[in-house]
Amino acid sequence: MKFLDSILPGSGAIIKTAVRAVQRGVASLVQSLRDDWAKATSSQRGTSRPSEEIRHDIEEIDGEITDLEKKLRRDGQLNRSNKEELEELRRQAMDLAEEHQQARSEETTSEILQEKTEASATSLSQDYLHILDWSRGPAVRMKPCPKCRAPMHLNRRNQPQNAIFTIKDYFWACTNFYIPEGTPGRCKGTLPFSDQDFGLLHKAGIPELEINRDHFTLITSQKPALKVIERRMSQAIGAQDIDVNCPIHGLPLVLQEKQTAEEGNVLDYYYLRCPHIGCGQTRKLKDAAQLASFLTRITGEGILS
Ligand SMILES: [Zn+2]
Ligand SMILES: [Zn+2]
Repeated sequence: MKFLDSILPGSGAIIKTAVRAVQRGVASLVQSLRDDWAKATSSQRGTSRPSEEIRHDIEEIDGEITDLEKKLRRDGQLNRSNKEELEELRRQAMDLAEEHQQARSEETTSEILQEKTEASATSLSQDYLHILDWSRGPAVRMKPCPKCRAPMHLNRRNQPQNAIFTIKDYFWACTNFYIPEGTPGRCKGTLPFSDQDFGLLHKAGIPELEINRDHFTLITSQKPALKVIERRMSQAIGAQDIDVNCPIHGLPLVLQEKQTAEEGNVLDYYYLRCPHIGCGQTRKLKDAAQLASFLTRITGEGILS
């Protein structure tokens, strides 16, 4: 594909040759996305079900898995048919998680394609690096892991290679990295994130993506914005992040508040966790752009409205 790099469910599309394309205008960007998206999906079977319906199925299956796991804990073992049933349910949950990611990609794309005037594009440069943090989290099926074919997600090194974070510190990482060490399926596959002229095509009217990184960092490090983050995030406790799923159960992770957060550091208060009983899958949310992206995806509104 000439133009489309990947779809970030809930956020938009990562596009190539962004600078040139942005100069041609958003309408032509949307048309290019339409063409590439048609190519990307031409080999797939018809339109998938709404993601909400698939999430409902994932939760129903998880209930059955939970019942069998309770039985296993209570009795110390399962009979053969229960054991097979449990394995089959776990397989089904993973298939549904895959179908769900596909449906979310379609829903995100159709939001951009529907109305040309409702789209906007931000070129990726050092000045707009916060849009990469905005984009961290969702599993991206269009970026299959080179080792195991699982979807990857955009990630950032813990420490910058130089004095400050640059595009070179971001990379695609396999979502199966989070499967516990020593368990089959764990994968450390990565792909570099190319640093040549990339951008994000997204819904218009997202103020966090219209300002540059210095401006964003300045605003979000001050008290009024931190108050807004705390208020909006605490209202969202228990909300599902439907674009970040547990790699073991397929369930959307749920927003939680830390019990042992550093007092006064709002960016250390929140994390995502799998709601399956006994599952230890968590994801950090430690960056203002990540929190703004989470809130925008969950509520339609970020922190700078
Ligand atoms: Zn992998
Ligand atoms: Zn889980």
